[in-house]
Amino acid sequence: MALNGLTVTANGLATEKPFLPRVIEFVKAQALSGSQEAKAKARNEDDEPPEPEYFLYPPDRLRKLFGETSPRRVGRGLQNLGNTCYFNSVLQALTYAVPLQKYFLTKEHSTSCMAKQHGTVCTLCLFEQHVLSVFDAQKGAFKPLDLLRHLPQIARRFHSRGRQEDAHEFLIHFLDSCHKSFLKHATADASVSRSVQQTTVIGQLFGGHLRSQVLCKRCKHPSNTFDPYMDISLEVQNANTLEKALEGFTRSETLSGANKYMCKKCDQKVDATKRFSIHSTPPLLTFQLKRFDFFHGLRGKLKKHVKFPMSLDVARFTSHPERQARYRLYGVVVHCGQSAKSGHYIAFAKHNSTWHCFNDETVRTVGEPEVLKQEAPVRRV
Ligand SMILES: [Zn+2]
Ligand SMILES: [Zn+2]
Repeated sequence: MALNGLTVTANGLATEKPFLPRVIEFVKAQALSGSQEAKAKARNEDDEPPEPEYFLYPPDRLRKLFGETSPRRVGRGLQNLGNTCYFNSVLQALTYAVPLQKYFLTKEHSTSCMAKQHGTVCTLCLFEQHVLSVFDAQKGAFKPLDLLRHLPQIARRFHSRGRQEDAHEFLIHFLDSCHKSFLKHATADASVSRSVQQTTVIGQLFGGHLRSQVLCKRCKHPSNTFDPYMDISLEVQNANTLEKALEGFTRSETLSGANKYMCKKCDQKVDATKRFSIHSTPPLLTFQLKRFDFFHGLRGKLKKHVKFPMSLDVARFTSHPERQARYRLYGVVVHCGQSAKSGHYIAFAKHNSTWHCFNDETVRTVGEPEVLKQEAPVRRV
């Protein structure tokens, strides 16, 4: 899914890979012997982020979340409970992410979750119940009261009602809360390594690593740093398409003059190039188009159409351009209106191969062209 807006949002899209990513290896990690460990460490420092010693959510179970879903009617709309369109739109877009939907509909989470017994709030339990309610046989819009009531516990800065919020910010906090609920439930041991922590079901579905590479122009020695991500925020100031925004994001920049780089190999300050790349590509890749900023008035909005495709090969923006990394668009969250503090959010998502528009209580089928023409300012509310 993706959104638009930095600290702000406007229209985002989420893409889903039709197959499992090649860069995530679905092989159970074995305990490493001493020399293997040293080797892994040496390799990791340069070429790869650290590999998890084991997976919190087993890869064979993750694999089962892909594949076909049994056909069911599109789910219910969500009642607006007072400026909650940001919340409704994000929830609807996430609900139609096939692997996540499957995970919740099988109730595999709640059947083993201990939160109830411990009397603690579990965001995954709440979300599972929400998804089950959205797909139950009842007619009319569903009132997402339970999740909304727990909003302050899910993310402290969100209040349960009344204020228009930024959908992207909500998405980040909500996924993080799901991820943490999983961790709390899966590990009694608080000292699991960072790489193991990233192997929750949420971490494996949405998470990857970004690589920042500095290349010494003199000795050609590359120095890599890796940072985990759950979504990628893209500048759209100078881009009219998602691909152009990705080109900008991964464009190499020269470090010279006052910005010269201290190369460890050369042991001196040298000219170098620096470039970001998407190092690992998750099954669900989320982009946020940064439409909101402080330059267009107070959290004003950059109003222009940023074209996005129905299918996207991100290979050339990754650390391994030779590996195919094709995604299909499955969901978009759109902000309609003038600024971050006003306007309205709606979501588009694919269900049973058909696009639907989720506008609070209303759910209607739409054609692909309507999805593709979405841009922040199309509809004023
Ligand atoms: Zn739970
Ligand atoms: Zn060098």
